[in-house]
Amino acid sequence: MKRLAVLTSGGDAPGMNAAIRAVVRRGLSLGFEMLGVQHGYAGLIAGEFRQLGARDVGGILDRGGTILGTSRCAAFLTPAGRSAALGQLRDREVAGLVVIGGDGSQAGAKALSELSMPVVGVASTIDNDLAGSDVTIGATTALDTALAAVDRLRVTASAHGRTFLVEVMGRSCGYLALLTGIGGGAEAIMIPEIPQTPEQVAAAIREAYGRGKSHAIVVVAEGARPNATELAAYFARHAERLGFELRVSTLGHIQRGGPPGAFDRISATLLGAAAVEQLERDLHGVLLGIVDGKVTATPYAKVVGAAKPLDPGLLRLAPILTL
Ligand code: ADP
Repeated sequence: MKRLAVLTSGGDAPGMNAAIRAVVRRGLSLGFEMLGVQHGYAGLIAGEFRQLGARDVGGILDRGGTILGTSRCAAFLTPAGRSAALGQLRDREVAGLVVIGGDGSQAGAKALSELSMPVVGVASTIDNDLAGSDVTIGATTALDTALAAVDRLRVTASAHGRTFLVEVMGRSCGYLALLTGIGGGAEAIMIPEIPQTPEQVAAAIREAYGRGKSHAIVVVAEGARPNATELAAYFARHAERLGFELRVSTLGHIQRGGPPGAFDRISATLLGAAAVEQLERDLHGVLLGIVDGKVTATPYAKVVGAAKPLDPGLLRLAPILTL
């Protein structure tokens, strides 16, 4: 019987479990034996495989995280590490591998596919920084989590007439911050793609109060420069002159947890099933994502390392909506 394997790698994202479930069940339905690799590339190198049946992936659809575990693995960045990983797959006669993860994980998958291993990627990261998918699995749920937090912070900010700096995740991509800012009604948004000075942000806050607002929310991407900590330190140093009271709230890993929302569940399910179908048809070396609402396979060469610009329409609208 032909054998396929699946792993999750890098940052976990809500919906990864739904993808694992779909990979396993679609694989079983096509007559494959299905193996799960524990702890991403680290587990692949160490040979941490386990057989997965239909019941092993039951009850996980609505759970965040990943039942297979994940890791960041320095050894996989080396040719020796990748060759060890390939050896483990060959030893078990694995005919194809599904890699569920973000841009780093897909760079690793590309490297493995260049060693003649049939690999198909499923785009999954809360950062939505991966080309080849308009929206990656996990980003929408993380956005909902960030929005719920901003809604609550706005209540207390308004009660005290305060300014809040809210730091959201996204690594070097401003997607989560931009959409949290727009969806959460922020007075200013700091993203890596559009550098601003602390004085520009201070002016936006002062102008918001000047227009009669009772509070100000500034959403800051973790990759923004200056970042939330630097911005807060600057504002503290100039507190008297700037004239507003400031609090910082870092949402952090809370954004990764929680049950996947409808979009992430359904897209993870579609992409997971499609990944197995690709391998069955001997089509690999591709990343699967959602493009224009459809499951789309894009060759790794076109997605790994490719830029993914933010929607210019949203960028234009953001400052207008703060009025
Ligand atoms: P994510 O997949 O969420 O972006 P990382 O960037 O941390 O997370 O990548 C996850 C893992 O993928 C890394 O720890 C490493 O093992 C592997 N990886 C990342 N970049 C490469 C690369 N260029 N070549 C090979 N493997 C890589």
